[in-house]
Amino acid sequence: MSLDMTYFNEMEAKIPHGKVRTRFAPSPTGYMHVGNLRTALYTWLIARNAGGTFILRIEDTDQGRLIEGATDVIYRTLAECGLDHDEGPDVGGPVAPYIQSERRDTYGKYAELLVERGGAYYCFCEKTESAEDSGEFDRADDPCRDLPLDEARARVAAGEPYVIRQRIPKEGTTTFHDAIFGDITVENKTLDDQVLLKRDGLPTYNFANVIDDHLMGITHVVRGSEYLSSAPKYNLLYEAFGWEVPTYVHCSPVMRDSQHKMSKRHGDPSYEDLKAQGFLTPAILNYVALLGWSPRGERAEQEFFTMPELAEAFDIAGISKSPAIFDIEKLTYFNANYIRNMAPEDFARAAEPFIRQSVKNEAYSVSEIAALLQARCEKLTDIPEKVDFFDALPDYDLAFYTNKKSKTDAAVSLEMLQKVLPKLEALNDWSTDGIHDMLIAFAEELGVKNATLMWPLRIACAGKLVTPGGAVEICKILGKDETIRRVKRGIEKLGG
Ligand code: GLU
Repeated sequence: MSLDMTYFNEMEAKIPHGKVRTRFAPSPTGYMHVGNLRTALYTWLIARNAGGTFILRIEDTDQGRLIEGATDVIYRTLAECGLDHDEGPDVGGPVAPYIQSERRDTYGKYAELLVERGGAYYCFCEKTESAEDSGEFDRADDPCRDLPLDEARARVAAGEPYVIRQRIPKEGTTTFHDAIFGDITVENKTLDDQVLLKRDGLPTYNFANVIDDHLMGITHVVRGSEYLSSAPKYNLLYEAFGWEVPTYVHCSPVMRDSQHKMSKRHGDPSYEDLKAQGFLTPAILNYVALLGWSPRGERAEQEFFTMPELAEAFDIAGISKSPAIFDIEKLTYFNANYIRNMAPEDFARAAEPFIRQSVKNEAYSVSEIAALLQARCEKLTDIPEKVDFFDALPDYDLAFYTNKKSKTDAAVSLEMLQKVLPKLEALNDWSTDGIHDMLIAFAEELGVKNATLMWPLRIACAGKLVTPGGAVEICKILGKDETIRRVKRGIEKLGG
């Protein structure tokens, strides 16, 4: 009895051809680690560079590990990063469904087809999961491998539990080609007859991804190099089905240091963590793009890329075989540059939650404070500590009033503050220019350097040695009443 091919022919007929089609196939783990984000980015870039199609597929066959809200992280991250998908669970497409748990029947049918083609067999042996996982199981001894198909089918029909295993040739070698690693040949005898369909009818990852990549018409499979060792088995599956093997693009891992892969479990930051640490999405993407890929030709020296520039410049040949080391300093450098180049209103919007962490007083303008910060922070998380003095004047050290370059010490500072107080009280135009012009004119009138007047005023108003912005900007934001209150407090502290 042979299988009715109608279903398979219909499935084949749906596969789009003629364009580059790539897929990002995350398992819903609840976070997006940096290596995953990079895979998503490279996969998207390959599609966009070729005017192709980018597909999102959710690989949730490992039901034991399902985490609430985990797919939301995937959708949110892709959307924030601008990695828009043309097909996927939420947008649909010609080869739906795009969630593996919804494709269960398909895997079962294809496993049966493979059995019929001789590429797999029903196995009724009781084996412990751990023997399976450790790969210690010796397939040469598996009595099921040589069961006549009719007999096996009869046992299946009688309700006996079974798995379906891949029938790996006992002899010979398998060679596969990877776009980064070249040709790799392995001895077939080193490959085990892996389980393709489990007792519960669910596929293993190794089976599901081959079926899906084929049925979704994927032309380029981009993934982490941890899957390299499975690639010969995938090739044997493609061959047994008589399908064309896609282009494999296995990317070397992102490392924490020369010895260790980045890992969330060991405290390395995920994409979400990096954002919480004050890094901007475009800076993260730009940096991650260069973690393992280098532009060539005209753009060989270019560091900063917009997404369209990346899509134009990206090529598989520029992906490196060697692992990349994640360097937070380098990411910080990219981030600082992105911050400086943002439109002021965009920066103010991004900075607002961080400003409001320490500046709760709504009277102080976010956009004015943001303007002081934009050139002076590398990460958004630098912000709260830099502007905390607006809400509450710290109990500062009087030694702050002494500054050689400004020619100030406690006595000079006291004199300056006492003299400038009535000028501030009399000033009606409390604008940046109004304050600035008054102070410059007054320093000249007093016959002192501008800094001799500005330094004590800034210390009195901020109570900090280092501040974003000078005395003029700080007085402007504080407003007249608060400035006067702080200057009086300075005078008092200095014993005046
Ligand atoms: N679901 C796999 C993972 O998250 C994807 C592997 C692949 O892209 O083939 O690691």
